[in-house]
Amino acid sequence: MNQKINFDVMKQLNVSLIMECIREKGPISRADIAELTGLTPASISKITRELIKKNFIRENGLGKSSGGRPPVLLELNPKAGYIIGVNLGPEILEVIITNLEADILVNNSKTLENLEQNYVLDELFNLIYQTIAESKVDKEEIIGIGMAVHGLINSETGISIFAPHYNWKNVAIKKLIEEEFQIPTFIDNDARAMALGEQWFGIARNSDDFITINIGNGIGSGIVINGELYQGVNYSAGEIGHIVVDNDGPKCSCGNYGCLESLASNPRITERARKLIKQGAKSKITNLVNDNLDAINIQHVCLAAKQRDEVAQQVLKEVGRYLGIGIAYLLNILNPELIVIVGDINEAKGYIFKYIKEVIEVKALEVPAENIKILATKLKGQAATIGGVTLVLKELFAGPELLE
Ligand SMILES: [Zn+2]
Repeated sequence: MNQKINFDVMKQLNVSLIMECIREKGPISRADIAELTGLTPASISKITRELIKKNFIRENGLGKSSGGRPPVLLELNPKAGYIIGVNLGPEILEVIITNLEADILVNNSKTLENLEQNYVLDELFNLIYQTIAESKVDKEEIIGIGMAVHGLINSETGISIFAPHYNWKNVAIKKLIEEEFQIPTFIDNDARAMALGEQWFGIARNSDDFITINIGNGIGSGIVINGELYQGVNYSAGEIGHIVVDNDGPKCSCGNYGCLESLASNPRITERARKLIKQGAKSKITNLVNDNLDAINIQHVCLAAKQRDEVAQQVLKEVGRYLGIGIAYLLNILNPELIVIVGDINEAKGYIFKYIKEVIEVKALEVPAENIKILATKLKGQAATIGGVTLVLKELFAGPELLE
């Protein structure tokens, strides 16, 4: 009785398989798609014809002949639609607009002056409108808005359950954005969105088992297992920032003591450098901020470390070791092949990564630590916004919209 529904589901899965294949391997011939997906040439012909008609894919040139006529190659049409990516960070709003290959057309950002909900939302709406206007993309061509949001997010309902830096509780962000723009909107926690972005467009493209760690005002992680993002039963998976790495450590925002976040997040790094300088340590950081110690930020510390400044190096060495302890736990439990680090701290990666690795060698078990790769993101400052864009692409390539 449910034949129609089953047929649609099957077709949707096939469309999704073909789109994934073209996205990853394109330009590619129909014959090669058949070989890679295991679908019949007849269903590939039928589905690709529909996708070409809808402009999602296009024919582009001829492939190598294996005797007969050279095959026509298919590729994604990056201009088939546009996507808005948003990062709703602790102190900053970032908005980009991209094509289907996540090439950025326009990017805008805005520092938040206060964290009151209506103000933040007003600024967000304005920045999205501004970005669309500057891109000259017709609003009708925008397929979706994807948002990376700090804190605890229910990605199914689109509700920000708790955003610690804004002190928001249960804000229906997805609904608010959709009411304003009439564009389908998807949201997830920032570190999880980043992991997805790394998987589609970043350094984790060839990995099915990896963890992205975002080090900013807080520390969070996005865990990918068997190619899928792991959310947790209450959407709380990946809170590496609240692993205790020093029992005698300082109080954390969560109420506990000695959490990784209370020792290795950007504010703690700058605070530690400031403290050492105030205690009399000589440092190049003092010159970098023209004696205004309150102005020290993470970039100053990284820059000074690269210039062999002892204070900066001491601080980052401690941070590297704390991160190493946290990562060692992850390796023992999850045995990933790759850890992707996101954050300004990567500016001093040549210095800090060696301490992370040093601790992992001691603290993690031999097998999970053996071939672990620890790499800096290549998406740089756009890791969160590209993550947001990927939330939309993941939905799109899953099929339903493509079939409409
Ligand atoms: Zn904590």
